[in-house]
Amino acid sequence: MIQTIGVIGGGQLGRMFTLDAKRMGYDVITLDPQPRSPCGQVADEQIIARYDDMSAIDDLGRRTDIVTYEFENIAIESIERLEQNGYAVTPSSNVLRITQNRLLEKGFVRGCGIPVAEFAEVNDATDLERACKSIGFPAVLKTVRGGYDGKGQWRAQDGGEAREALAQAAGAQLIYEQFVPFACEISVVCTRNAAGEIVSYPPSENVHDHGILYISIVPARVDDRAAARARAYAEKIASALGIVGTFCVEFFVARDGEVLVNEIAPRPHNSGHYTIDATRCSQYEQHVRAICGLPLSEPELLRSAIMVNILGEGTGDHLAGVDGLLSDPNVVLHMYGKKHAVDRRKMGHFTMLVKGPVTDAAIERAREARALLDWTDFPQHAPAGR
Ligand code: AMP
Repeated sequence: MIQTIGVIGGGQLGRMFTLDAKRMGYDVITLDPQPRSPCGQVADEQIIARYDDMSAIDDLGRRTDIVTYEFENIAIESIERLEQNGYAVTPSSNVLRITQNRLLEKGFVRGCGIPVAEFAEVNDATDLERACKSIGFPAVLKTVRGGYDGKGQWRAQDGGEAREALAQAAGAQLIYEQFVPFACEISVVCTRNAAGEIVSYPPSENVHDHGILYISIVPARVDDRAAARARAYAEKIASALGIVGTFCVEFFVARDGEVLVNEIAPRPHNSGHYTIDATRCSQYEQHVRAICGLPLSEPELLRSAIMVNILGEGTGDHLAGVDGLLSDPNVVLHMYGKKHAVDRRKMGHFTMLVKGPVTDAAIERAREARALLDWTDFPQHAPAGR
């Protein structure tokens, strides 16, 4: 019987997971170094410690019935230690090892018979020269570990730019990827439980701005064959990994309709936030169900939706314009409880529910709604002159 869930990581994904877990009657303890983290604000308790503080990890294992994590850049040793000490933890260290490493991940996906962009390992100038020759340009060089939201990533149009990327990586192991001239990017959120039940949500279409997700459109505006193929690939990856929990697969849709895997996130995902407001059961509730040994729910889309991230701009910590945003009854606002709206930090998001298919006009409405919001130094309700 599971009563208490441990969550390593105190960010917004942990927060939205915890809100669902609490609704379903569970207790949650999170572990994060930052006091009053987004997740810690809504959990029963927060252990304030680094993710690689092994005595804190032991404490979390001892005091909970199952441990999960909400981001993948944690020390693999933390998950291995929980496993070795006989504590239940999911996804497993094997899943984390593969998804933390772009080379292992791409090799794994290709081994499943699923297309990925051509890639090669680059540790030094000799490897780089070989990769430039065999894969060609344009290319993307990425750190094998630790990169996210476009960090640790360089585009290269020629050998000079590729060598510059190698220099900037300062000794970090790299993956050299063929640049995919994609028509669009989509992602599929998928959940598998220990009984082997698998559900996948309709793909969302993702538009990035400088490597960070800006807007997700659901259902993705791709043909039915591409959508079905992406879901089938995600489900195949779920069973091949033997993962227990919610995870996400990001894809490129090529101009000829081919679908290639870009990467796997072994946790609920930003592009799946729409499931909270537009489906019967959110990606977070599916995760609760999966890790607690419960049956999964239908991933049915009740309404089309547009999800817009609200990023900090470094120009103030207070969000103004919420009244204008919420004057549209189809908008649901989610803020993460972060104090400082530093530039490009994910502070919140809103979902705009749409009747019927998502049109260009609906996307324009969502962009206009985002433009109503502004970061200011002082709360708007403060009396003038204070
Ligand atoms: P990633 O961190 O791998 O998700 O990359 C961040 C973003 O960079 C992706 O969402 C794409 O927009 C772009 N990108 C990454 N890899 C490639 C690639 N091989 N070809 C084209 N665009 C890419």
